[in-house]
Amino acid sequence: MKHLLFLLLASLGTACAITSTPAQLVEVGKPSRVDAIKPALTGQGPIQFRKVVAANWAADRGGLIQLEDPKAKAAGLKNELEDIQIYFYVIDHPTFGRYLIDTGIESTMKEKPEDSPVGGMMARFMNMDKLVIHQTTRDWMRQNPGPIKGVFLTHMHLDHIMGVPDLDPTIPIFIGPEESTHKEFRYLFTRGATDDFLEGPRTLSELNFPEPAAPGEPAVIDFFGDQSLFVLSVPGHTEGSLAFVVHSSAGPQLITGDTCHTRWGWEQNVTPGEFTEDADGNRQSLDFLKQFSATLPGVQVHPGHQSATAAGKLETL
Ligand SMILES: [Zn+2]
Repeated sequence: MKHLLFLLLASLGTACAITSTPAQLVEVGKPSRVDAIKPALTGQGPIQFRKVVAANWAADRGGLIQLEDPKAKAAGLKNELEDIQIYFYVIDHPTFGRYLIDTGIESTMKEKPEDSPVGGMMARFMNMDKLVIHQTTRDWMRQNPGPIKGVFLTHMHLDHIMGVPDLDPTIPIFIGPEESTHKEFRYLFTRGATDDFLEGPRTLSELNFPEPAAPGEPAVIDFFGDQSLFVLSVPGHTEGSLAFVVHSSAGPQLITGDTCHTRWGWEQNVTPGEFTEDADGNRQSLDFLKQFSATLPGVQVHPGHQSATAAGKLETL
């Protein structure tokens, strides 16, 4: 059914942008480069880093993992529902304040789910009956008071913007290059809900990346200008997908976004499946993150929807 609807809309020949929310290019941070990251990660970092589990959920494995990959075939992976989680990450910088990476889940989805942008028709397509919310973004903010200076989106798929309605519309939302303007057929399904989650009025802040320092390397911004938070442009899963390297007090942290959704995908270096828009770009970006992370001693890796560090299990709450 999902595939038929997709083919029908694709055959109409109309792709659209993921949202009608306007974006402006912003000059923030310092241009940086990949080979500046590792030397900056020595000693204890200044950032207090937290990972918040907003919900447990389930999604089609064929979306999360490329089942045609020889490693997936050898492992006998089938297209069943896979248990996943929805996270957001908290960056507390001693000088520059609090930022979030991704947004968790808005309170309406817990209190009156039928009124949320993914209520009704959308709920069926998104396995919303499998969503178990642990903590809404508003609940988290009440328990952890303090101003939020900005929010980064690893990308703009719905499961990463569901917490936006709980955030004050004046908080800047930073996105990657052309994330909000690139056109895809698949956005025909989700654009209405995306616009509803982003309703403010808000203006998105598109990060203005420098050119990559070398061919095949991601472009990099040193966001705070003190080498504590590096933002990497890793196109593929979406046009403007972002990854992050955080110099935290608990050691270096790599946030992959959905360049890799799952623990198995990370361990085996297998890309996402149908949820990815540009398979070749995703392959290149995941190859880079895998190879780069291997050069960072003690790095903790955070795939988009599972935790890499808990042997065989999702995080317990
Ligand atoms: Zn996702």
